[in-house]
Amino acid sequence: MSPRVAVVTGSNKGIGLAIVKALCQKFEGDVYLTARDSGRGEEAVKSLSSEGLKPMFHQLDINDLSSITAAAAYFKDKYGGVDVLVNNAGIAFKVADTTPFATQAEVTLKTNFFATRDMLTHFMPIIKAGGRVVNVSSFVGSRTLNGCSPALQERFRSEDLSEEELVGLMERFVEEAKKGEHKQGGWPDTAYGVSKTGLTTLSMILARRLSKERPGDQILLNACCPGWVRTDMAGPKAPKSPDEGAETPVYLSLLPAGATEPHGRFVSDKQVQPW
Ligand code: NAP
Repeated sequence: MSPRVAVVTGSNKGIGLAIVKALCQKFEGDVYLTARDSGRGEEAVKSLSSEGLKPMFHQLDINDLSSITAAAAYFKDKYGGVDVLVNNAGIAFKVADTTPFATQAEVTLKTNFFATRDMLTHFMPIIKAGGRVVNVSSFVGSRTLNGCSPALQERFRSEDLSEEELVGLMERFVEEAKKGEHKQGGWPDTAYGVSKTGLTTLSMILARRLSKERPGDQILLNACCPGWVRTDMAGPKAPKSPDEGAETPVYLSLLPAGATEPHGRFVSDKQVQPW
């Protein structure tokens, strides 16, 4: 039988690196630190090696479809699939950034929603029975949902929302942002927030699909918030360390065999949150 394997995207620094560190200590199997830039990735592997940990490395740029498909083929070939996938890679413009909102909307949605969806499209078929999939979203996505028009909130919360309709809504946000019409369209003024509303909603859709199409495989898929964490993204004033930020994603990655819950939920501080 192939050894078990865990894969964490965007894990050369920040919360992703802390997730790899914790998985190296707690997961029985190979743990892959992945990064879009091999140099930064190899440096991060070295830093963990100096602590006595032994992560493996694979290049993975989620914005590059050929990088995603090459990585998926590698894990399928070497391990027969993936046991734990943590979609952690993400970006956020700083509050003070003067890049036009239209560009921020396009760029942020590209990585946090569309590229993460590409990851899921290519990796879900190779998630092994008993697998765990964790999408690192944000409480900002929940706050953003509550700031959407009642019509949009109804769609995001609806159990009959399809992946295609969700993708259409995310595309609509970007198009309306480009025309300066997103507020009239019912969206709050946050590209990062909308990207994470989309990611949490996508997680719920994919979990429902797993339950329907692979009921015997006992795969659990959830979205989570790591909390407000001191990283390059959130800055030095955040209350949690990266290790503390990794706790909920790692908890969801290591839900014990036979567990049936949580599944298709948004989880923060290891607790299921309302959506
Ligand atoms: P970070 O320190 O900025 O790290 C982000 C990581 O994602 C980096 O390794 C970055 O790689 C990688 N990345 C970005 N685009 C990528 C791509 N196209 N392909 C592969 N990797 C890519 O941020 P963080 O705070 O650790 O955030 C990690 C996750 O937690 C994000 O999804 C974020 O939205 C979420 N989150 C963070 C907080 C917080 O308070 N920090 C709160 C809620 C949610 P490079 O080094 O190459 O740029």
